[in-house]
Amino acid sequence: MRYYSTNGKTEMVDLREAVVKGLAADNGLFMPERIATLPTTFYGQIDKFSFQDIAFAVAQAFFGEDVGADALRTIVNETLAFDCPVVPVQANCYALELFHGPTLAFKDVGARFMARLLGHFVGQDRKQAINVLVATSGDTGSAVANGFLGVEGVNVYVLYPKGKVSAIQESQFTTLGQNITAIEVDGVFDDCQALVKQAFMDKELNEQLLLTSANSINVARFLPQAFYYFYAYAQMKKQGLQNELVFCVPSGNFGNITAALFAHRMGLPIKRFIAANNANDVFYQYLETGKYRPKPSVQTIANAMDVGNPSNFARIYDLYDGNHHTISQLIAGFSFNDDEIRATIRDCFQQTGYVLDPHGACGYKALQLSLSENEHGVFCETAHPAKFKETVDAVLPTPIDIPERLARFMQGRKQTYRMNNSFDKFKDFLLQNAPR
Ligand SMILES: *Cc1c(COP(=O)(O)O)cnc(C)c1O
Repeated sequence: MRYYSTNGKTEMVDLREAVVKGLAADNGLFMPERIATLPTTFYGQIDKFSFQDIAFAVAQAFFGEDVGADALRTIVNETLAFDCPVVPVQANCYALELFHGPTLAFKDVGARFMARLLGHFVGQDRKQAINVLVATSGDTGSAVANGFLGVEGVNVYVLYPKGKVSAIQESQFTTLGQNITAIEVDGVFDDCQALVKQAFMDKELNEQLLLTSANSINVARFLPQAFYYFYAYAQMKKQGLQNELVFCVPSGNFGNITAALFAHRMGLPIKRFIAANNANDVFYQYLETGKYRPKPSVQTIANAMDVGNPSNFARIYDLYDGNHHTISQLIAGFSFNDDEIRATIRDCFQQTGYVLDPHGACGYKALQLSLSENEHGVFCETAHPAKFKETVDAVLPTPIDIPERLARFMQGRKQTYRMNNSFDKFKDFLLQNAPR
């Protein structure tokens, strides 16, 4: 399979290059040149298949030409070592819980899949180790570090601002060891990002080392999220609830919902979609006006969705040839401020006993406002509420528990390299420590 750029100003590339480069040379996002429809027999029997079997069928449609069936099967099985159950919350309203992975975030699946695919490429040509650089303000670092942990031939460097990430988040990428190195930068997140960006542009570094990013726009990170929607459909079908299905996705960079739209293009029978946003409402405004106007992000309590210029908008636009009518018929939009998010967490708990996190709360609320009588609504719960414990505890009658898995990270020994924000130091560090 070849991949083209949404900017259309550069040659198509193969899967390996699309994954290692991340972004196209013309700064566009990579799109697969074909999206295969899966056979009706597959959809007819999907409720009889396991999560891994469903995901393998989907993965083959995208990666089957480039990765052998046995290797792909292993990559899929190792990625999906946990469940994503659909849980009833209220009449006609279901939560698709995407937070049962190692760091309790839905980004675990994409990170794990990408790590194993890169590991496969390195193992295949045995030429050069791959060094992954990530700057993080918290969540991405933990998902990427845990996703790549133990993958041979791939080394990860997580740069984070000293004292500016939560204790739980910090423990999730500083206590792992093995192929994961945490770099504690005396500065803010922007300093970390600037160091990573400069590294990608540095001629000498790139001559000596194979550097890549594990950015969420990478095809190997965003496409595997399509697995969720096929599996959710299968679970709904098992209960006879697959008619008039509406999927509602709390969205920031719009990678997750774009994967859902790919599933739809592959023939998954979904009636319509909802993009639920916090106060960052660029997409909502686009649906209303037909004009896409990026703006600076505003800080909210659903901070993983604080995005003012969602990168995957380019993919959605490309998927529907920029047709605003088609896009706004298929996808509805909602935007909620922090007070509305807090009230939703409180009301949902009072009425149903279900504990939402601030991101899932946007999804739940959008379904409440939009679902018609015959529709079945499924919203993504993208993070475990304990990851946002302070916010959630402040509105619920009693404090929520911290799951065992999160608590365990806290007991590990923190190991970091300290650095100021000087690029020369960072470069020396990489040249001395990163494998060729
Ligand atoms: C990343 C993230 C989102 C947003 O997902 P996108 O694919 O960027 O739209 C929503 N909720 C949580 C908890 C996240 O970590």
